[in-house]
Amino acid sequence: MNQLAPDEPLKVLVIEDSEEDRELYRRLLEKNSDIQFTIYETDNAKEGLELSKKNRPDCIILDYQLPDGTGMDFIQSFKHNGGATAIVMVTGQGNERTAVEALHLGAVDYITKESIPDGFFIQSIMNAIERARLKNQVVQYQRELEKTNQALSEFAHTVSHDLKAPLRHITSYCDLLKEDAKEQLDGKKMEYISRMSVNVRRMQRMIDDLLIYSRVIHSREEKREVALNLVFQEVVEELDPAIKASGAHITSDPLPLVKTYPVRIRQLFQNLIGNALKYRGEKTPEISVHCVDKGAYYLLSFEDNGIGIEEKHLKNIFKPFERLHSQEQIEGTGLGLSICKKVVEMHNGRIWAESTPGEGSVFKVSLPKTG
Ligand code: ADP
Repeated sequence: MNQLAPDEPLKVLVIEDSEEDRELYRRLLEKNSDIQFTIYETDNAKEGLELSKKNRPDCIILDYQLPDGTGMDFIQSFKHNGGATAIVMVTGQGNERTAVEALHLGAVDYITKESIPDGFFIQSIMNAIERARLKNQVVQYQRELEKTNQALSEFAHTVSHDLKAPLRHITSYCDLLKEDAKEQLDGKKMEYISRMSVNVRRMQRMIDDLLIYSRVIHSREEKREVALNLVFQEVVEELDPAIKASGAHITSDPLPLVKTYPVRIRQLFQNLIGNALKYRGEKTPEISVHCVDKGAYYLLSFEDNGIGIEEKHLKNIFKPFERLHSQEQIEGTGLGLSICKKVVEMHNGRIWAESTPGEGSVFKVSLPKTG
């Protein structure tokens, strides 16, 4: 009947101010022949906390009303102590709201006083212990995964950083060779050197983008209220040389304050506006950012009148290294939009593109207000 049949007795702490109820729980626990229980008891929350710290119980049976506070208060304080213990809240009939609140706060299960004599008691405790153990395991795995990711990201960061120095040296030697040997080398050999330099620069850009990618994913940024208007302005200032060179017009609707990861959201604006400039057609670029309040989220659109994208490519462009052009046509690493996708997903939003080849594209981003 029970999923768990441990060799060691299970430790149960009963926090209940009614002497009769404690007596009832004790009898039910001791009567069970499948599993042995070691029982600790108290009639108040304060001593309950001390006993839980000292004995590390597998399960706490908690009354919702105690002489020195509510069961809810106990759960709050207990959580601060970082316990992986199952808490089963005992409520009265009709107290479902209290039960739901307790579950939100971290109780694993609840049981009504009236259902205890029906034999649900032991089963509820065993289920709660099993669930708390699984939950604890998931938390441990998550922590390990975070640590591994962090180590991997630091490794990628260091390697990328170290790779940049030799590349810089190759570029310098290419330049020196071009300068010093220009009399001895014919046009073809000079062309080879130029191609070397171009490829080194491409690799440098690739490393830079990989660094941005890893920073976007792994940086320990906190969310805060960010004025998207300011983000837009800063990005436009940064892109000023490209804007001037192309004669582009860039406008924006008034943009809201949204709880976001500031560095990441800026990267999103940078990539989308940067692409709108880069993938321009023959016409003078007209780029606009729009924002519609959709209630639970904002819908941002980044619109351009550039070369556009064929329907069949619209999904793939968000995958890393996916490019629709050769380096000779338009330079790039194919990481920009995958970075945008990661950023939007970190905000629990969605990103997609709509486009008409030859007329332009719209990149749409849904950004939940809750952050
Ligand atoms: P990159 O620009 O480095 O190639 P991205 O991930 O930013 O990488 O973009 C992937 C591909 O999507 C680009 O190669 C390009 O073909 C297409 N693309 C992105 N933005 C636009 C745009 N605004 N207009 C047309 N094509 C675009």
